[in-house]
Amino acid sequence: MLVFILNAGSSSLKYQLMNPESQEVLASGLCERIGIDGRLIHEANDLKIKKDLAMPTHKEAIAIVLESLTSGEGKVIDSIEEIDSIGHRVVHGGEYFSESVIIDDDVISKLESLVPLAPLHNPAHIIGINICKELMPTKPNVAVFDTAFHQTMEPAAFMYALPYDDYTNHGVRKYGFHGTSHYYVSDQASKMLNKENSKVIVCHLGNGSSICAVQDGKSVDTSMGLSPLEGLIMGTRSGDLDPAVLAYLMEKKEMSAEQLVNYLNKSSGLLGISGISSDLREIIEASTNGDEKAMLAIDMKCNRIKKYICSYAGILGGVDAICFTAGIGENADLIREKVCSGLEFMGVSLDKTKNKVRNSENREINTEDSKTKIFIIPTNEELVIARDTYKLTKV
Ligand code: AMP
Repeated sequence: MLVFILNAGSSSLKYQLMNPESQEVLASGLCERIGIDGRLIHEANDLKIKKDLAMPTHKEAIAIVLESLTSGEGKVIDSIEEIDSIGHRVVHGGEYFSESVIIDDDVISKLESLVPLAPLHNPAHIIGINICKELMPTKPNVAVFDTAFHQTMEPAAFMYALPYDDYTNHGVRKYGFHGTSHYYVSDQASKMLNKENSKVIVCHLGNGSSICAVQDGKSVDTSMGLSPLEGLIMGTRSGDLDPAVLAYLMEKKEMSAEQLVNYLNKSSGLLGISGISSDLREIIEASTNGDEKAMLAIDMKCNRIKKYICSYAGILGGVDAICFTAGIGENADLIREKVCSGLEFMGVSLDKTKNKVRNSENREINTEDSKTKIFIIPTNEELVIARDTYKLTKV
Protein backbone atom coordinates (compact mmCIF):
# COMPACT_ATOMS: atom_id res chain seq x y z
CA MET A 1 0.00 0.00 0.00
CA LEU A 2 1.44 3.37 -0.99
CA VAL A 3 -0.12 6.74 -0.27
CA PHE A 4 0.90 9.91 -2.07
CA ILE A 5 0.53 12.77 0.40
CA LEU A 6 0.08 16.22 -1.05
CA ASN A 7 0.09 19.59 0.70
CA ALA A 8 -0.63 22.13 -2.03
CA GLY A 9 -0.07 25.81 -1.22
CA SER A 10 -0.52 28.86 -3.41
CA SER A 11 2.99 28.87 -4.91
CA SER A 12 4.48 25.72 -3.43
CA LEU A 13 3.63 22.13 -2.70
CA LYS A 14 5.04 19.50 -0.38
CA TYR A 15 4.72 15.78 -0.94
CA GLN A 16 5.62 12.39 0.47
CA LEU A 17 5.21 8.86 -0.75
CA MET A 18 4.58 6.67 2.29
CA ASN A 19 3.66 3.15 3.17
CA PRO A 20 1.21 3.74 6.05
CA GLU A 21 1.57 0.20 7.37
CA SER A 22 5.36 0.15 7.70
CA GLN A 23 5.56 3.98 8.05
CA GLU A 24 8.36 3.88 5.49
CA VAL A 25 8.78 7.16 3.61
CA LEU A 26 9.98 6.26 0.11
CA ALA A 27 10.35 9.84 -1.08
CA SER A 28 9.55 13.37 0.00
CA GLY A 29 10.03 16.78 -1.45
CA LEU A 30 8.95 20.25 -2.27
CA CYS A 31 8.11 22.31 -5.36
CA GLU A 32 8.67 26.01 -4.87
CA ARG A 33 8.07 29.14 -6.93
CA ILE A 34 5.16 27.64 -8.87
CA GLY A 35 3.84 30.27 -11.29
CA ILE A 36 7.13 32.19 -11.04
CA ASP A 37 9.85 29.90 -12.38
CA GLY A 38 9.96 26.59 -10.52
CA ARG A 39 12.27 24.63 -8.25
CA LEU A 40 12.11 20.99 -7.19
CA ILE A 41 13.75 19.48 -4.12
CA HIS A 42 13.27 15.71 -4.23
CA GLU A 43 14.60 13.42 -1.48
CA ALA A 44 14.80 9.70 -2.16
CA ASN A 45 17.34 6.86 -2.13
CA ASP A 46 19.46 8.87 0.36
CA LEU A 47 19.81 11.63 -2.24
CA LYS A 48 18.65 15.23 -2.13
CA ILE A 49 18.05 16.26 -5.74
CA LYS A 50 17.59 19.96 -6.49
CA LYS A 51 16.47 21.09 -9.95
CA ASP A 52 15.21 24.32 -11.48
CA LEU A 53 12.34 23.30 -13.76
CA ALA A 54 9.58 25.35 -15.37
CA MET A 55 6.39 25.16 -13.30
CA PRO A 56 3.99 27.68 -14.81
CA THR A 57 1.10 26.04 -12.91
CA HIS A 58 0.54 23.37 -10.25
CA LYS A 59 -0.15 20.89 -13.07
CA GLU A 60 3.45 20.95 -14.32
CA ALA A 61 4.70 20.81 -10.72
CA ILE A 62 2.69 17.68 -9.87
CA ALA A 63 3.63 16.08 -13.20
CA ILE A 64 7.32 16.73 -12.40
CA VAL A 65 6.90 15.15 -8.96
CA LEU A 66 5.27 12.04 -10.44
CA GLU A 67 8.05 11.81 -13.00
CA SER A 68 10.69 12.13 -10.25
CA LEU A 69 9.05 9.26 -8.35
CA THR A 70 9.12 7.01 -11.41
CA SER A 71 12.38 7.89 -13.22
CA GLY A 72 15.91 9.16 -12.75
CA GLU A 73 18.12 8.76 -9.70
CA GLY A 74 15.27 9.65 -7.33
CA LYS A 75 13.08 6.87 -8.72
CA VAL A 76 11.31 4.80 -6.06
CA ILE A 77 8.49 3.13 -8.03
CA ASP A 78 8.23 1.81 -11.60
CA SER A 79 4.92 3.45 -12.42
CA ILE A 80 2.31 5.68 -10.79
CA GLU A 81 0.02 2.64 -10.90
CA GLU A 82 1.85 1.55 -7.74
CA ILE A 83 0.33 4.50 -5.87
CA ASP A 84 -2.89 3.28 -4.26
CA SER A 85 -4.44 6.53 -3.09
CA ILE A 86 -3.79 10.21 -2.51
CA GLY A 87 -4.13 12.04 0.81
CA HIS A 88 -4.54 15.81 0.65
CA ARG A 89 -3.81 18.09 3.56
CA VAL A 90 -6.67 20.61 3.61
CA VAL A 91 -6.48 23.62 5.93
CA HIS A 92 -10.16 24.50 6.29
CA GLY A 93 -13.03 22.07 6.54
CA GLY A 94 -15.31 24.54 8.37
CA GLU A 95 -18.17 22.89 10.26
CA TYR A 96 -18.73 20.38 7.46
CA PHE A 97 -15.96 17.97 8.33
CA SER A 98 -15.14 16.50 11.73
CA GLU A 99 -13.09 13.71 10.18
CA SER A 100 -11.22 12.82 7.00
CA VAL A 101 -13.33 12.00 3.92
CA ILE A 102 -13.06 10.48 0.44
CA ILE A 103 -13.25 13.40 -1.97
CA ASP A 104 -16.26 13.53 -4.31
CA ASP A 105 -18.03 16.41 -6.07
CA ASP A 106 -19.97 17.30 -2.92
CA VAL A 107 -16.74 17.59 -0.90
CA ILE A 108 -15.21 19.83 -3.56
CA SER A 109 -18.24 22.13 -3.61
CA LYS A 110 -18.05 22.38 0.20
CA LEU A 111 -14.34 23.26 -0.03
CA GLU A 112 -15.25 25.93 -2.58
CA SER A 113 -17.89 27.36 -0.26
CA LEU A 114 -15.20 27.66 2.45
CA VAL A 115 -12.83 29.74 0.29
CA PRO A 116 -13.93 33.03 1.94
CA LEU A 117 -12.76 31.58 5.30
CA ALA A 118 -9.43 30.29 3.91
CA PRO A 119 -8.66 32.46 0.87
CA LEU A 120 -4.95 31.63 0.91
CA HIS A 121 -5.26 27.88 1.35
CA ASN A 122 -8.43 26.23 0.08
CA PRO A 123 -8.13 27.42 -3.56
CA ALA A 124 -4.67 25.80 -3.78
CA HIS A 125 -5.98 22.57 -2.23
CA ILE A 126 -8.83 22.43 -4.77
CA ILE A 127 -6.33 22.93 -7.61
CA GLY A 128 -4.15 20.12 -6.19
CA ILE A 129 -7.13 17.76 -5.90
CA ASN A 130 -8.34 18.48 -9.46
CA ILE A 131 -4.88 17.92 -10.94
CA CYS A 132 -4.45 14.62 -9.09
CA LYS A 133 -7.85 13.52 -10.43
CA GLU A 134 -6.72 14.46 -13.92
CA LEU A 135 -3.25 12.87 -13.76
CA MET A 136 -4.27 9.78 -11.75
CA PRO A 137 -7.95 9.34 -12.69
CA THR A 138 -8.39 5.86 -11.20
CA LYS A 139 -6.97 6.68 -7.74
CA PRO A 140 -9.15 7.69 -4.79
CA ASN A 141 -8.44 11.07 -3.14
CA VAL A 142 -8.91 11.73 0.58
CA ALA A 143 -9.07 15.09 2.36
CA VAL A 144 -7.55 15.38 5.85
CA PHE A 145 -8.47 18.66 7.52
CA ASP A 146 -6.49 20.88 9.90
CA THR A 147 -9.77 21.96 11.48
CA ALA A 148 -11.43 18.54 11.91
CA PHE A 149 -9.92 17.59 15.28
CA HIS A 150 -11.26 20.80 16.85
CA GLN A 151 -14.86 20.18 15.84
CA THR A 152 -15.38 18.63 19.29
CA MET A 153 -15.09 22.08 20.93
CA GLU A 154 -18.26 23.19 22.71
CA PRO A 155 -19.90 26.53 21.81
CA ALA A 156 -18.58 28.07 25.04
CA ALA A 157 -15.08 27.52 23.63
CA PHE A 158 -15.62 28.25 19.94
CA MET A 159 -17.98 31.26 20.01
CA TYR A 160 -16.74 34.83 19.92
CA ALA A 161 -18.60 37.36 22.05
CA LEU A 162 -20.07 39.08 19.01
CA PRO A 163 -23.76 39.33 18.09
CA TYR A 164 -24.90 35.72 17.59
CA ASP A 165 -25.96 36.39 13.98
CA ASP A 166 -22.34 36.79 12.97
CA TYR A 167 -21.97 33.10 13.70
CA THR A 168 -25.18 31.93 12.04
CA ASN A 169 -25.00 34.25 9.03
CA HIS A 170 -21.27 34.46 8.41
CA GLY A 171 -19.68 31.48 10.18
CA VAL A 172 -17.66 33.73 12.49
CA ARG A 173 -16.35 31.37 15.20
CA LYS A 174 -13.14 29.71 16.33
CA TYR A 175 -12.28 26.76 14.07
CA GLY A 176 -8.72 26.04 15.21
CA PHE A 177 -5.89 24.67 13.06
CA HIS A 178 -2.91 22.26 13.32
CA GLY A 179 -5.57 19.68 14.24
CA THR A 180 -3.71 16.78 12.62
CA SER A 181 -0.64 17.56 14.71
CA HIS A 182 -2.60 18.12 17.93
CA TYR A 183 -4.40 14.82 17.35
CA TYR A 184 -1.17 12.90 16.69
CA VAL A 185 0.74 14.37 19.63
CA SER A 186 -2.10 14.06 22.16
CA ASP A 187 -2.68 10.46 21.05
CA GLN A 188 1.01 9.66 21.55
CA ALA A 189 0.90 11.43 24.93
CA SER A 190 -2.06 9.42 26.17
CA LYS A 191 -0.20 6.24 25.19
CA MET A 192 2.88 7.46 27.10
CA LEU A 193 0.68 8.30 30.10
CA ASN A 194 -0.93 4.88 29.84
CA LYS A 195 -4.08 6.37 31.28
CA GLU A 196 -7.62 6.08 30.00
CA ASN A 197 -8.85 9.54 30.91
CA SER A 198 -6.19 12.09 30.24
CA LYS A 199 -5.80 15.85 30.34
CA VAL A 200 -3.14 16.96 27.93
CA ILE A 201 -1.94 20.35 26.69
CA VAL A 202 -0.18 20.26 23.31
CA CYS A 203 2.13 23.15 22.40
CA HIS A 204 2.70 23.03 18.63
CA LEU A 205 5.48 25.60 18.34
CA GLY A 206 6.74 26.07 14.80
CA ASN A 207 6.80 29.01 12.47
CA GLY A 208 3.03 28.83 12.92
CA SER A 209 2.19 28.02 16.55
CA SER A 210 -0.88 26.94 18.46
CA ILE A 211 -1.85 25.30 21.74
CA CYS A 212 -4.61 22.80 22.29
CA ALA A 213 -6.34 21.51 25.41
CA VAL A 214 -7.22 17.85 24.93
CA GLN A 215 -9.43 15.88 27.30
CA ASP A 216 -9.87 12.12 26.78
CA GLY A 217 -8.57 12.48 23.23
CA LYS A 218 -10.89 15.35 22.29
CA SER A 219 -9.99 18.96 21.58
CA VAL A 220 -11.79 21.18 24.09
CA ASP A 221 -10.10 24.48 23.25
CA THR A 222 -7.35 25.79 21.03
CA SER A 223 -5.55 29.07 20.50
CA MET A 224 -6.05 29.61 16.76
CA GLY A 225 -9.42 30.97 15.73
CA LEU A 226 -11.37 31.90 12.63
CA SER A 227 -7.98 31.97 10.95
CA PRO A 228 -4.46 30.87 11.99
CA LEU A 229 -3.73 34.44 13.13
CA GLU A 230 -5.18 34.22 16.66
CA GLY A 231 -3.36 33.07 19.77
CA LEU A 232 0.38 32.66 20.18
CA ILE A 233 3.12 34.96 18.90
CA MET A 234 4.44 33.25 15.75
CA GLY A 235 7.25 33.77 13.24
CA THR A 236 5.52 36.61 11.43
CA ARG A 237 1.99 36.57 12.94
CA SER A 238 0.95 38.75 15.85
CA GLY A 239 -1.40 36.32 17.59
CA ASP A 240 -3.78 37.91 20.13
CA LEU A 241 -4.27 41.68 20.09
CA ASP A 242 -6.72 44.18 21.48
CA PRO A 243 -9.16 44.45 18.53
CA ALA A 244 -9.09 48.24 18.99
CA VAL A 245 -5.50 48.18 17.73
CA LEU A 246 -6.80 47.27 14.28
CA ALA A 247 -8.94 50.35 13.68
CA TYR A 248 -6.29 52.53 15.33
CA LEU A 249 -3.53 51.25 13.03
CA MET A 250 -5.71 51.49 9.94
CA GLU A 251 -6.28 55.14 10.71
CA LYS A 252 -2.76 56.06 11.84
CA LYS A 253 -0.97 54.19 9.05
CA GLU A 254 -3.67 54.69 6.41
CA MET A 255 -3.93 50.98 5.79
CA SER A 256 -6.69 49.14 3.97
CA ALA A 257 -8.22 46.06 5.59
CA GLU A 258 -6.19 43.87 3.23
CA GLN A 259 -2.95 45.67 4.04
CA LEU A 260 -3.66 45.32 7.75
CA VAL A 261 -4.32 41.58 7.52
CA ASN A 262 -1.10 41.22 5.56
CA TYR A 263 0.77 43.28 8.19
CA LEU A 264 -0.52 41.10 11.02
CA ASN A 265 0.26 37.89 9.10
CA LYS A 266 3.57 38.72 7.46
CA SER A 267 5.31 41.60 9.28
CA SER A 268 4.45 40.97 12.94
CA GLY A 269 5.28 38.27 15.50
CA LEU A 270 8.94 37.47 16.22
CA LEU A 271 10.00 39.26 13.04
CA GLY A 272 8.08 42.43 13.87
CA ILE A 273 9.26 42.66 17.48
CA SER A 274 12.90 41.75 16.89
CA GLY A 275 13.34 43.40 13.49
CA ILE A 276 15.82 40.55 12.88
CA SER A 277 14.10 37.44 11.58
CA SER A 278 11.07 35.19 11.89
CA ASP A 279 13.48 32.31 12.53
CA LEU A 280 13.87 31.66 16.24
CA ARG A 281 17.44 30.37 15.82
CA GLU A 282 18.57 33.77 14.55
CA ILE A 283 16.71 35.53 17.36
CA ILE A 284 18.28 33.32 20.02
CA GLU A 285 21.71 34.01 18.53
CA ALA A 286 21.07 37.78 18.56
CA SER A 287 19.81 37.64 22.14
CA THR A 288 22.97 35.84 23.28
CA ASN A 289 24.89 38.71 21.72
CA GLY A 290 22.90 41.12 23.86
CA ASP A 291 20.24 42.30 21.39
CA GLU A 292 17.44 43.66 23.60
CA LYS A 293 14.63 43.39 21.08
CA ALA A 294 15.58 39.76 20.43
CA MET A 295 15.40 39.12 24.21
CA LEU A 296 12.03 40.87 24.33
CA ALA A 297 10.68 38.77 21.44
CA ILE A 298 11.70 35.57 23.25
CA ASP A 299 10.21 36.72 26.57
CA MET A 300 6.96 37.76 24.90
CA LYS A 301 6.67 34.47 23.04
CA CYS A 302 7.23 32.45 26.22
CA ASN A 303 4.85 34.57 28.30
CA ARG A 304 2.08 34.06 25.77
CA ILE A 305 2.62 30.28 25.73
CA LYS A 306 2.57 30.22 29.53
CA LYS A 307 -0.69 32.20 29.66
CA TYR A 308 -2.37 29.67 27.40
CA ILE A 309 -0.99 26.70 29.33
CA CYS A 310 -2.33 28.09 32.59
CA SER A 311 -5.71 29.00 31.17
CA TYR A 312 -6.07 25.57 29.58
CA ALA A 313 -5.06 23.87 32.82
CA GLY A 314 -7.96 25.80 34.35
CA ILE A 315 -10.36 24.74 31.58
CA LEU A 316 -9.26 21.10 31.91
CA GLY A 317 -9.30 21.21 35.72
CA GLY A 318 -5.70 19.99 35.90
CA VAL A 319 -3.17 18.63 33.48
CA ASP A 320 -1.47 15.24 33.21
CA ALA A 321 1.02 16.21 30.51
CA ILE A 322 2.33 19.26 28.70
CA CYS A 323 3.67 18.28 25.26
CA PHE A 324 6.08 20.20 23.07
CA THR A 325 6.20 19.62 19.33
CA ALA A 326 7.18 21.16 15.92
CA GLY A 327 10.41 23.01 15.05
CA ILE A 328 10.64 25.15 18.18
CA GLY A 329 8.87 22.76 20.56
CA GLU A 330 11.10 19.84 19.57
CA ASN A 331 14.42 21.70 19.34
CA ALA A 332 14.49 24.87 21.43
CA ASP A 333 15.43 23.85 25.00
CA LEU A 334 15.63 27.52 25.96
CA ILE A 335 11.96 28.08 25.11
CA ARG A 336 10.84 24.93 26.93
CA GLU A 337 12.82 25.97 30.01
CA LYS A 338 11.43 29.50 30.05
CA VAL A 339 7.86 28.26 29.51
CA CYS A 340 8.05 25.68 32.31
CA SER A 341 9.81 27.94 34.80
CA GLY A 342 7.29 29.36 37.27
CA LEU A 343 4.77 26.58 36.63
CA GLU A 344 5.98 24.58 39.65
CA PHE A 345 2.81 25.70 41.51
CA MET A 346 0.83 23.44 39.16
CA GLY A 347 3.12 20.45 39.59
CA VAL A 348 5.36 21.13 36.59
CA SER A 349 9.01 20.37 37.27
CA LEU A 350 11.43 20.30 34.36
CA ASP A 351 14.59 18.17 34.44
CA LYS A 352 17.06 20.65 32.97
CA THR A 353 19.53 17.95 31.94
CA LYS A 354 16.92 15.86 30.12
CA ASN A 355 15.60 19.04 28.52
CA LYS A 356 18.95 19.58 26.82
CA VAL A 357 19.22 16.09 25.30
CA ARG A 358 18.68 16.13 21.54
CA ASN A 359 17.12 13.22 19.68
CA SER A 360 14.11 12.52 17.52
CA GLU A 361 12.31 10.15 19.92
CA ASN A 362 9.22 10.72 22.02
CA ARG A 363 10.64 11.51 25.45
CA GLU A 364 9.85 12.61 29.00
CA ILE A 365 11.78 15.64 30.30
CA ASN A 366 10.25 16.19 33.73
CA THR A 367 11.91 15.34 37.04
CA GLU A 368 11.01 12.05 38.74
CA ASP A 369 8.79 13.83 41.29
CA SER A 370 7.00 16.12 38.82
CA LYS A 371 3.23 15.71 39.19
CA THR A 372 2.73 16.85 35.61
CA LYS A 373 4.61 15.07 32.86
CA ILE A 374 6.48 17.12 30.29
CA PHE A 375 6.89 15.38 26.92
CA ILE A 376 8.71 16.15 23.70
CA ILE A 377 6.81 14.39 20.92
CA PRO A 378 7.99 14.96 17.33
CA THR A 379 4.87 15.57 15.28
CA ASN A 380 4.02 13.46 12.23
CA GLU A 381 1.11 14.98 10.34
CA GLU A 382 2.00 13.01 7.19
CA LEU A 383 1.61 9.72 9.01
CA VAL A 384 -1.91 10.71 10.14
CA ILE A 385 -2.80 11.72 6.57
CA ALA A 386 -1.41 8.46 5.19
CA ARG A 387 -3.20 6.34 7.80
CA ASP A 388 -6.56 8.09 7.33
CA THR A 389 -6.22 7.77 3.55
CA TYR A 390 -5.38 4.09 3.90
CA LYS A 391 -8.30 3.44 6.29
CA LEU A 392 -10.81 5.11 3.99
CA THR A 393 -9.60 3.61 0.71
CA LYS A 394 -8.36 0.10 1.45
CA VAL A 395 -10.39 -2.53 -0.35
P1 AMP B 1 8.47 24.47 11.81
O1 AMP B 1 7.50 25.49 11.27
O2 AMP B 1 7.82 23.42 12.65
O3 AMP B 1 9.36 23.90 10.74
O4 AMP B 1 9.46 25.26 12.82
C1 AMP B 1 10.27 26.30 12.37
C2 AMP B 1 10.81 27.03 13.59
O5 AMP B 1 11.58 26.12 14.39
C3 AMP B 1 11.75 28.19 13.21
O6 AMP B 1 11.44 29.33 13.99
C4 AMP B 1 13.11 27.66 13.61
O7 AMP B 1 13.97 28.69 14.01
C5 AMP B 1 12.76 26.80 14.81
N1 AMP B 1 13.85 25.87 15.11
C6 AMP B 1 14.25 24.80 14.40
N2 AMP B 1 15.34 24.24 14.99
C7 AMP B 1 15.64 24.99 16.08
C8 AMP B 1 16.64 24.94 17.10
N3 AMP B 1 17.56 23.99 17.10
N4 AMP B 1 16.60 25.88 18.06
C9 AMP B 1 15.69 26.85 18.05
N5 AMP B 1 14.71 26.95 17.14
C10 AMP B 1 14.68 26.03 16.15
